[in-house]
Amino acid sequence: MNDRNGRNGTASPVTFTFNGTVNTAVEMPPPLPDPTRASPAISAAPPSAARGALLAVIAPEAPERDIQVLVDGLRLRGIEASVFDVGSGVVMLPDAPLAETEAVLRAHPAIAHVSSPGTPYRLARREVVPEGSVVAIGGVAFGRGAFGVIAGPCAVESRAQILAAAQAAAEAGAGVLRGGAFKPRTSPYAFQGLGLPGIDLLAEARAATGLPFVTEVTDAGQVEDLYPHVDAFQVGARNMQNYELLKVLGDVDKPVLLKRGPSATLEEWLLAAEYVLAGGNPRVILCERGIRTFNRGTRYTLDLATMALARRETHLPVIVDPSHATGDPDLVLPMARAALAAGADGVIVEMHPAPAEALSDGAQALVPAQLRAMVAELEAMAPIVGRTLSRPRPA
Ligand code: PEP
Ligand code: MN
Repeated sequence: MNDRNGRNGTASPVTFTFNGTVNTAVEMPPPLPDPTRASPAISAAPPSAARGALLAVIAPEAPERDIQVLVDGLRLRGIEASVFDVGSGVVMLPDAPLAETEAVLRAHPAIAHVSSPGTPYRLARREVVPEGSVVAIGGVAFGRGAFGVIAGPCAVESRAQILAAAQAAAEAGAGVLRGGAFKPRTSPYAFQGLGLPGIDLLAEARAATGLPFVTEVTDAGQVEDLYPHVDAFQVGARNMQNYELLKVLGDVDKPVLLKRGPSATLEEWLLAAEYVLAGGNPRVILCERGIRTFNRGTRYTLDLATMALARRETHLPVIVDPSHATGDPDLVLPMARAALAAGADGVIVEMHPAPAEALSDGAQALVPAQLRAMVAELEAMAPIVGRTLSRPRPA
């Protein structure tokens, strides 16, 4: 894995210095809104936790050399800064900076704007990439107006099943194929997935249809084996707080689809994303998949309001999984419509060529015709809410 992100030096702590030749003629950027007032629904971190970090967002056109000189200069003043590859780039100063240092950063031509995060998540904050980040899975974009549809079975079960599912997903107009080879199941007696042979079948399905695929990784030790084959890693709801896994995924250069834990707060979810970003991988797509409530009518409760709130709080794309949220194929289309209307950047749905024979989650799977109808409807709706359906690259 020579091309892993942490090894090419673009992410992770690059240290810099300040050369003192500050262009004082540079216009001061307008002050940023008070983050605690901009986010009334999120309690601000206690002052002691929030104090200290200062984010300086690097201007898109800033030459890398200027950033290096800036970081080197800061180091001469005893301030260790880290540079992260998030959108156009961010310099983070972990220690409480002097007001004078902050003023210097604000005036520096390589810096677009400076803020002091009032939330524990820093790199995931919306203001780091105000226009929103775009994350692509094999060329299929999510975010900044691009709406991606991911579809496929819960699990890879056999060669015939995944090839038929991939064909149906491609014909329906989905952009990305899904399918788990490593399945975290509630019961130890349930089908646990095919493991690595399932990944080979997904690769065969990709070759046959041109659809990139996302598949779940359940353990940090699997990442190295999966990396050469997958287009994106799915972190399941049960693993949202598997921090060792998130740290390993911070060191790869492929997208991570991070599902919200069934009882996770927005802050916990965004901090889980922060692990991946802080490790140097900016390619995170968040997925709301339903939370646990007293409600028994649906499998979980689809928390669309938190999806919309997440889109305000973070620049990362946020998609919705109406299949696991509802557990009912009849509710998938209405909830997919609602997700698009509420501003989601995509959906992930389960579809099986023969749901009655499925080895996992068959009861919630769409049949191919339902997927086709759903994609057609979402495509027609998308322009009304400023979205365009993302398509895979032509083969
Ligand atoms: C899945 O996508 O099949 C799955 C297990 O989802 P979740 O992690 O959201 O339960
Ligand atoms: Mn499933």
